[in-house]
Amino acid sequence: MLEKPGTETMRRPAPGEAAGRPAGAEEKNLVAQIDQIINEAASARASEVHFEPGPENLVVRVRQAGVLKVVAQLPETSKTTVANRLKIMGQMDITKFRVPQSGYFKRAAGERKVEFYVYTVPTLYGEALVVRISDKQSATMHLAELSMDPKVLATYRRCLAKGSGLYLVSGPPGSGKRTTIYASILEVLKPDRLAMAFDPVIKYEIAGMVQGKPEDKSEFTFAEAIEALMRQEPDVAYIGDIACEADARATIQGAFAKRIVLARMSANDSLNTIQNLIDMGIQPFLLAASVTSVINQRLVRRLCEACREPYAPDESLRREVGYQLPENVAFFRAKGCPSCNGTGYHGAIALFELYHPSEELNKMIVAKEPMQAIRARALKEGMYPLKWDGVRKAAGGMATLEDVLNSL
Ligand SMILES: [Zn+2]
Repeated sequence: MLEKPGTETMRRPAPGEAAGRPAGAEEKNLVAQIDQIINEAASARASEVHFEPGPENLVVRVRQAGVLKVVAQLPETSKTTVANRLKIMGQMDITKFRVPQSGYFKRAAGERKVEFYVYTVPTLYGEALVVRISDKQSATMHLAELSMDPKVLATYRRCLAKGSGLYLVSGPPGSGKRTTIYASILEVLKPDRLAMAFDPVIKYEIAGMVQGKPEDKSEFTFAEAIEALMRQEPDVAYIGDIACEADARATIQGAFAKRIVLARMSANDSLNTIQNLIDMGIQPFLLAASVTSVINQRLVRRLCEACREPYAPDESLRREVGYQLPENVAFFRAKGCPSCNGTGYHGAIALFELYHPSEELNKMIVAKEPMQAIRARALKEGMYPLKWDGVRKAAGGMATLEDVLNSL
């Protein structure tokens, strides 16, 4: 049984449960109090609100900037009302309280649109609930703001201008792939182009793009969702995550119509991305015919420019670089100042490797030549390896050499 978000209906209490439960006005006040806690947490840009049942009360804690703080101690009798209220908001089943559930709702917090993910878990003293708060920002970065090497940026822009094929963005989890994809979408969005996306998490809302996401309870596979999206004939399509052969096939199939298909996946480098698709069961000739570009990336901490200090990395680290460095190259390390809250860092910066296959490289892929040979050829044709981009950024003082080498 599902309730629409915002409905105030409560289920009839189960026998024996009614006893310690507040009624009438008291329950209304409690509901208002829960709403207020959630709204205040969202306004304060907290990341989560925990409702933790204990033997004597229900403790409500809010996590802000990584630190948990108690914001309310509700009476023991409030447990059911609180759980029901949160479950109704998250469109969950209030008749089930012995199994874990997850739900979702969204609300506006001032100018911002905020998404809330509700998770329950049965515990010794009743259901514990957490509400995770996720900001959907409407603003996103443009390609030129991603610190791509100018030559890499120019090449990638030429690839996007082709206007068709598969554009893969790969890297380990947390390497900033979505940011690159959204920036790429902004680059190719035009009023006369239909753009559609399907991603498990919508990080940014993009004006002019139809964005969908699979629901928890959905009864179709991700691959079926990709096929359904392609049937809408978008000019630009973004596929959240290719994780199996069915996803890959549906995505590649979509890329054969004359359109831009951007997709995200996990891989260690650009040619490894191609290899992963082959390992999933995709024939190399399909990849040679569809892939326009592969970006592989990492994320490292960005050094605070106000306090970073030059230093000489030790010899073993310099050897690990593997490139001939100019004698006077300066590397920097973190120090800490008031502008960076003493951390020495300001946000993060991405490292990129861009593969865009030439005819010769595609022939090698179709001929199933070893990936090392294909990679060597790509480097010979001018591909800048991820490591080169990292060392270049470290030498420019954007990140530490240690962070760059550790990220690879
Ligand atoms: Zn600083």
